[in-house]
Amino acid sequence: MEDIGKELEKVFSKGNYKQTYDAIVIEIMQDPDVKKFILENNDKINDKIIQNSFSKLYEFFIEKEKNQFNGYEPILFLNRNFIDVEYRPTEEFLLKQREQEKNNRIKAIEMPKDIKSASLSDFQIINEKDDRSQAFEESLQFIQSYTKNPSEYNKGLYLYGSFGVGKTYLLGAIANTLAKKGTNVTLAHFPSFVVAIKQSISDNTLTEKLNKIKQSEILMLDDIGADSMSAWIRDEVLGVILQYRMQEQLPTFFSSNFNMTQLEEDYLRISNKGDDEPLKAKRIMERIKYLSKEVPMIGINRRNS
Ligand code: ADP
Ligand code: MG
Repeated sequence: MEDIGKELEKVFSKGNYKQTYDAIVIEIMQDPDVKKFILENNDKINDKIIQNSFSKLYEFFIEKEKNQFNGYEPILFLNRNFIDVEYRPTEEFLLKQREQEKNNRIKAIEMPKDIKSASLSDFQIINEKDDRSQAFEESLQFIQSYTKNPSEYNKGLYLYGSFGVGKTYLLGAIANTLAKKGTNVTLAHFPSFVVAIKQSISDNTLTEKLNKIKQSEILMLDDIGADSMSAWIRDEVLGVILQYRMQEQLPTFFSSNFNMTQLEEDYLRISNKGDDEPLKAKRIMERIKYLSKEVPMIGINRRNS
């Protein structure tokens, strides 16, 4: 701001002092925002106030043009007996900031990048061949009841259906909607999360990783059932996460190509070593059922469409 005075001096020291000064005054007084401000404060402003405030009007005029205050715009206001300038964040800046805050509330583990732009309003486009309305309705219902009463237990959703129907997209859209309302959401691509968990054994971050994920306000495990799983991951990782979330009543979502019965029989029951453990599978499945409501998603494959 100190530069304004210097700039003025520079202008006036060029000679033609009076002429230049008058030209600037005219230009500033013709600025639509200056005009509007003076008109709006007509009853409080007189010529003397305008004269005394000229350096501030000049500052306003220059800063408005330069738009140099990244994200801030100058605003005129009446400060007792002279006109002053203050700086306020622009609409655009506030929008960007809100978007940033929203994104900070979403922790995405190995999820597609475009998930942060998934939105429920885009999801509504449903054609006749495409019945995903139940999933959509259930999503809205969850959001409504969770936002209204976050401390009450809100069951998550278990979205299942074939490849490409938009399960991951819908999880992302729910996550974005919740994050905009101030909720923290962790979205993890389950098979990749498992890989990261296995790696964390060697660098001693297993407990930390496990704690973080199990404690997240809302957890979404995407694509469960897509890999083959070891008994250790099933019982000591997935089992531990689900047990904790049940105890603490934390909302948990799943997406899978399998429905709940298939997940139990074809995924949880047989370990990657070929051991058949129906009781252990059942125990995990009971937790999943406690945490989430099974919702089918039937529709066209949206990949490459
Ligand atoms: P799934 O997880 O069921 O396999 P995805 O969520 O990955 O399916 O969706 C497949 C593709 O279609 C993705 O590229 C996704 O971004 C896109 N998609 C899904 N639903 C919508 C939608 N309602 N609007 C726009 N794009 C969508
Ligand atoms: Mg998916």
